[in-house]
Amino acid sequence: MNVLVINCGSSSLKFQLINSDSEQVLAKGLCERIGIDGSLTYQPAGGEKVKSDKAMPTHTEAIQFVIDALTDDKTGVVKDLKEIGAVGHRVVHGGEKFAKSVVITDEVMKAIEECNDLAPLHNPANLIGINACQKLMPGTPMVAVFDTAFHQTMPAKAYMYGLPYEYYDKYKVRRYGFHGTSHSFVSKRAAELVGKPYDAVKTIVCHLGNGASICAVENGESVDTSMGLTPLEGLVMGTRSGDIDPAILEFIAKKEDLDIAGLMTMLNKKSGVFGLSNNLSSDFRDLTSAAESGNEIAATTVDVFCYRVAKYVGSYVAAMNGVDVIAFTAGIGENASLVREKVMEYLGYLGVAIDKEANDSHGEEVKISTPDSKVDVFVIPTNEELAIARETVALV
Ligand code: AMP
Repeated sequence: MNVLVINCGSSSLKFQLINSDSEQVLAKGLCERIGIDGSLTYQPAGGEKVKSDKAMPTHTEAIQFVIDALTDDKTGVVKDLKEIGAVGHRVVHGGEKFAKSVVITDEVMKAIEECNDLAPLHNPANLIGINACQKLMPGTPMVAVFDTAFHQTMPAKAYMYGLPYEYYDKYKVRRYGFHGTSHSFVSKRAAELVGKPYDAVKTIVCHLGNGASICAVENGESVDTSMGLTPLEGLVMGTRSGDIDPAILEFIAKKEDLDIAGLMTMLNKKSGVFGLSNNLSSDFRDLTSAAESGNEIAATTVDVFCYRVAKYVGSYVAAMNGVDVIAFTAGIGENASLVREKVMEYLGYLGVAIDKEANDSHGEEVKISTPDSKVDVFVIPTNEELAIARETVALV
């Protein structure tokens, strides 16, 4: 079956058409500046990437252009829409309502809408994408795959905050966690790589990208993760602060005369390794090369990032009373060998031994611990689109 995987943002839409039997990507692309002017980037497998400007007042036009490109006589990869068996939609927040992916019905749409409060920037855009697809592809089954669902197995001791209980009761303020599709995909693969059943292995997945989170996966279930009610908590990220003393907010608000919106912009867009490096860059390629050429702020920034990752890994070893496998994934995890090396150096007490030669690799699946290391450490490239396609096929 061919599955169209859609990841819809407020002004952009990423897509892949995946054949679920071969698990090959038939075509992929991106619509940008939806509602502003509009452009489509489209690339069929083995073909040239083509970018064209197209008027996209709404997501419906954007999806129509995607369908046109996929079915085009010259560059298309299917003859008509009937060859697309299902659509898998990435949905950011499923709250406590969704512990699994679901086939989209009217009730599901209502329930996703009820989670809008929890992800006001993302969920409404995800719903717009689903509505537009339903309009243009009536009768094609659609599935929602939630970033939060994998973490619904966390116990209360991991998801409750030390806040007045009434906020959980009234507003469902708790840890949800994100990147669930990636943590699930990578932890399953890690179990395969060590040749153990998924439900008999303790894994820590370090998803280190522009957004970054860590997850403790015990016997196939997420038992703790570093992101919280929102993706702001946890690691130091590209531009997000991660964990800070909450009292800093009042202190800075008074000094800088910032309101809540100003504080949130500071925490989400001006902090992280970008802010910490004195606005040098949010990109680890720039930061690691600056650090290597003697830039002290860049070196400290890389150290802060790695130290925080190592602290989380240590806390999840405690949470699971042990660890069998550690996996690095996403842009930084798959590519930045310096970051992996620095994190692994902190883990010597666990008996982690690094294979430096193997660690000098980028973007490939590889074991980076030595054969006598007490914990197996891997780089496992994530593939959220493939995971969404698999979930979609399983449900339809
Ligand atoms: P992601 O959000 O998973 O797409 O990851 C994006 C981030 O990965 C970028 O902002 C970079 O910091 C990082 N990244 C990508 N490629 C490399 C590389 N070759 N070396 C170091 N960092 C990289």
